[in-house]
Amino acid sequence: MPYFDANATTPLAPTARDAWLEVSEEDWANPSSPTRAAARARVRLEDNRQAWAAAFAVRPEQVVFTAGATEANNAVFAHLAQQAGAGARVLLSAVEHPCVLEPAEHWFPGRIERLAVDRGGRLDLNALRARLAAGPCAAVAVMAANNETGVLQPVAEVAEACRGHGAAFVCDAAQWAGKLPLDGLPRADYLTLSGHKFGGPRGVGVLVLGEAAAGFRGRRGGPQEHDHHAGTEDLAGIAALTAAFRAQPPEGWPSAGRDAFVASLAETAYEALGAVHPRLPNTVSLLLPRHRASRWIARLDRRGWAVSSGSACSTGKEGPSHVLAAMGLEAEAAHRVLRLSSLPEASVDDWLGLRAALDAVLRELDEDEGKERLTTVVEIDL
Ligand code: PLP
Repeated sequence: MPYFDANATTPLAPTARDAWLEVSEEDWANPSSPTRAAARARVRLEDNRQAWAAAFAVRPEQVVFTAGATEANNAVFAHLAQQAGAGARVLLSAVEHPCVLEPAEHWFPGRIERLAVDRGGRLDLNALRARLAAGPCAAVAVMAANNETGVLQPVAEVAEACRGHGAAFVCDAAQWAGKLPLDGLPRADYLTLSGHKFGGPRGVGVLVLGEAAAGFRGRRGGPQEHDHHAGTEDLAGIAALTAAFRAQPPEGWPSAGRDAFVASLAETAYEALGAVHPRLPNTVSLLLPRHRASRWIARLDRRGWAVSSGSACSTGKEGPSHVLAAMGLEAEAAHRVLRLSSLPEASVDDWLGLRAALDAVLRELDEDEGKERLTTVVEIDL
């Protein structure tokens, strides 16, 4: 089935599955145990840590394996709250994922300031600089790439601004990692990523700690992860995560299909949101000419095309996405937005096939609405 919901999750990569099975069968010992089998598991764990340390050009102790991005971001904000002085503020881009927004609101009630984005969904750096200059600030959270629009945020400039003001920089890189080269990311004090966004298993991720993160204790209850994150490591999951990452194209996912799709929208009633900015190579946030996105999703699904509206987490939630609202979309328009996000193997033909399917669905929905109107008129006439 043509799959265009990759920003929600991706299927397990074959190499990740092999790595998971191998470790589960051969190196299943608890890496903290005193046995020889455990020592082997420990070596494997540290080899994986070393691989991520090399990918980020950091020391191995700065790499913490986590239970995914949501878990890691919760741990980061709990830690920041313990460290921050009373009254310290936290700045967040208005388009952060709920797994950043909600822990931040929970741990810093009444002390969160949301930073505006422009109509294309990219952070307004002047707003950030003005808020930083306004007083002490414990942390700034700006994601690397938005899950709904694919828009890349100016994280290098954010990192620099944070350094200048002594604020910790929290960067949710869940959508960037695997899709784009990691050397495009700046140093952050807390950077999180998630395995299942690039062919790894769910519930496994990486937190990279920066210089300002000394003393980080994400969870208590054991000395694992160099004392940073208690709990028996999911070594099979970690091995699968690393294998999935290694299977990604080093230059990043291809964008040819997405570009052909966007080009095909010229002079039509569809609009690609955020297209003025650099974006993830696999994502289109598509403003539809009419009819609610939920109706399109059902019709496309029946035809075999998996797409979504906004983020998977907000599907089924009342109200339009906070990301689209921050971009200035009225609620009615925000209900007409589809998120199309492909896997790296999607071809130009797959994208153009989706384009044709959209036109067919539009005709169908228009016809149905015509019939519904006719029925109403007949009923009123009777
Ligand atoms: N951050 C972003 C930008 C995401 O898109 C997601 C996944 O939807 C997450 C964080 C959460 O990641 P996880 O599923 O690993 O908790």
